[in-house]
Parts: sequence; C-alpha cells; structure tokens
Amino acid sequence: MSTHPREELDPRSMATWVADHLVSHGHVAYFAGGCVRDRLLGIEPSDFDVVTDARPERIQELFRNAVGVGESFGVMLVRRGGQSVEVATFRSDGVYEDGRHPESVTFSDERSDAARRDFTINAIFEDPATGTLIDYFDGASDLKQRLLRAVGDPLERMREDHLRALRAVRFTARFDLEIDPSTAQAIRSTTGELEGVSRERIGGELRRMLRDPSRTRAMMLLEELGMDAPVLLEATNRSAEQSGLDALGSEERPPIHGLAAWNQDRGGPRTTEHADHLRSALLLSNQEHRELISIFESCLAILDSWTSLGVAGRKRLAVRDAFPVSLELVGVTDPSLAADVSRDLAELRASGLAPDPYLNGNDLIAEDMEPGPRFKSILDAVYDAQLEGRIQDRDAAIALARSLL
Ligand code: ATP
Ligand code: MG
Repeated sequence: MSTHPREELDPRSMATWVADHLVSHGHVAYFAGGCVRDRLLGIEPSDFDVVTDARPERIQELFRNAVGVGESFGVMLVRRGGQSVEVATFRSDGVYEDGRHPESVTFSDERSDAARRDFTINAIFEDPATGTLIDYFDGASDLKQRLLRAVGDPLERMREDHLRALRAVRFTARFDLEIDPSTAQAIRSTTGELEGVSRERIGGELRRMLRDPSRTRAMMLLEELGMDAPVLLEATNRSAEQSGLDALGSEERPPIHGLAAWNQDRGGPRTTEHADHLRSALLLSNQEHRELISIFESCLAILDSWTSLGVAGRKRLAVRDAFPVSLELVGVTDPSLAADVSRDLAELRASGLAPDPYLNGNDLIAEDMEPGPRFKSILDAVYDAQLEGRIQDRDAAIALARSLL
C-alpha cells in the first residue's frame, strides 16, 4: 500500500485511490451508479460507489480496515482520510419475493451488475483511470436525450421493486427528464399500493423530492402516475392550478414546507388530525409534525383572524417560525390579504416584533410578589402591553403587574 493518500481526501480522490489500488492488484474496478450519472450531468457527486470483480474477502485483504455493510449483500466500506467509499462486488440480484428485497445475491460479471440496476442512467460504469464509460444499456445517450428508462423489461423491473417508481419520479424531476413511455406505463400499472415499500422509505423519498427546487414537477408526476394516493394514504386528488408548491420558489426548502404546500394545492384539511395522519403515512418526526401543525395553524390564523387581531396578537403570530412560509401559502389563495399583511408587518417591525420582555418570573419574585399559577397570565398580559406600546419601560411594567395581581 505505497499509495496511501494523506489525510483529508476529497471524495473523488478517495474513490480513485481505492479503484487504483484494486487495479494494481490485478482487479477490475469502476465507478458506478449515481456518481457517474452526476459527472455526466456536470454535478460534482458527493459520494462515490466502486464496483469490482474482487470478492469481499479479497477486498478485506487489500484494505485492512474495510468493514462489511448490509451483511448478506457483501458490500464493503473502505475508510481512509476521513472518507469512506462503498466497494461492491459485481453481482446479479436473486429472486424478489416481497416486492422489495432480493432473496439472495450471486456474484457475477459486470454486465449482470449493470443489468440489475434500476434505470439506464444509473447503470453506467466509468473507468476512473481514463474516464472511459462502460455503458451496456445506453445510459449516456438516454441522459443526453433526457430520458429516464428502466434497464430491461420495465414491467418486470417495477414489479420486482416498487421503490423504483418513487426513484423514477425523483430522478425525472430533479434532472428534468421525461419518463420513457413504456417505463411510465409500467409504473402506472404496478405501483398501486407501493406494496412492500416501508413507510420509512416512502417518507424518505418524498422528503428528498419536496426539498428539491423541482418539487412541483415531482408532485405533478406522482399525481399523473397515480402514486399520490399510496404515498399519502389518502384519496387521489389532483392539485389546484394556483400552486402553493410553485410559491416556494427555486431554492431548497425544508420538506415540511413542501408538504404543507402540496396539501394546500390538493385541498387537504389543515387540521391536527390530518397532520397526525400524515405523520403516520410518512413517518414524520415529532419536530416535523409540530412544524406542520404550526404551519396549518398559522395559515388559518392569518386567513381567519389577522384583520381582527390587535397589535400584540399580530406580533405574536408574526414571530412564529411557521409564519413566513404560512404567509407565502396564504398569498397563493388570497393575494390581497397577503399584501395587506405584508404592509402591516412593515409597520409592526418599526416598534419591534419580538423585543426582550421587560419582566420575567424572577423579576416578579424580586418585587416580592407571591409565585403562583397566575404568574404566566400576568407576564403574558404585561408582554402584550409592551408589544402594543402601552408601556414604555420596566417601571411601567412592574406597576402594571402589581395592578393585575
Ligand atoms: P442518489 O444517491 O443521488 O440518490 P444514486 O443513483 O446514487 O442517486 P443510490 O440509492 O445511492 O442512488 O444507489 C446507487 C446505485 O444503486 C443506483 O445508481 C442504482 O444503480 C442502484 N440502485 C439503487 N437502488 C436501486 C433499486 N431500488 N433498484 C435497482 N438498482 C438500484
Ligand atoms: Mg448515491
């Protein structure tokens, strides 16, 4: 191992070093999958996968710190210089029994390894030493034509693994592709219930779609391909023309913003019960669930109460984390209200949306007030007075607190 790289490698150098090392010991080694596709698209990949004809035991021999990942699948993780690269032996997948996991793997040749991959654009190998593509299924030409096409018989490939249908949508939206008609047809006819795919995987795929600027296209594709119902576990419902998803713009956003927008476009209820439903359909975290409820509540509060709220109520609403995205979403269905709210906000900001409170509980105790359950309501009332500008300093705050006691 004379070619030890020094510390702090970048991912590409690390993967290249691993492949070189295998080649110098008489093996074949290529980059495979997403990293090849990304390079062809001009995107620098964040992680690299290496495939080789070396068996796991041999990989272990050549890289002493390699550890197995995914047990029975014989994929090894090689670590060095703060980086790690997955090294997989060429293999063909065995029989799919549950619509998701192959029952077994058989080590095999490189063509079979390409053939087991989901889409042609994901089935290209690259020789890291020369940059030459080893492209058994014309993935590079599909990529040039911006076509997403299953490797092999689309129907069979979709039946084997329904997760592929979600991956199809994610790649198509993210890389601005079209789905080849027979692949699209296969998706439509097989993915009915996304059978065999865990809610965790479904939620994970959906989050990745919603986070990306291509979220509108992705959700449209899910609807067109009949996957919205099995993803959300609710009735099919085509999104409205006025799109909350579009309103989120072309930045990455927290997936929950996208979920709230999609729900709005589909005319979904903005209730706690519905947030609970989405939590179990997509395995939302507690934090995501709370954020979703907060967006629902803030949208409703803006729509139903903004005009009747006093200064303190408006300020309290406006400083919520969920407020900015809620206002964006309200702007889609009620642009004139949203414009009024934005104008009001500018005014409210002038006197401070969330100034430090003049008083806290310790201040009340220091003023010899008896601690008790009424502290919170007193402090709230004093803070409201502060937000509304009815009191201007700490002395006035103490006087108000005394009068309320
Ligand atoms: P990204 O990492 O950007 O999501 P990727 O293509 O690298 O895209 P991974 O999930 O990292 O996706 O998988 C790596 C490769 O493994 C894929 O490019 C594909 O060749 C293959 N692969 C992944 N999932 C499947 C699947 N469900 N069916 C068949 N092949 C798959
Ligand atoms: Mg990847």
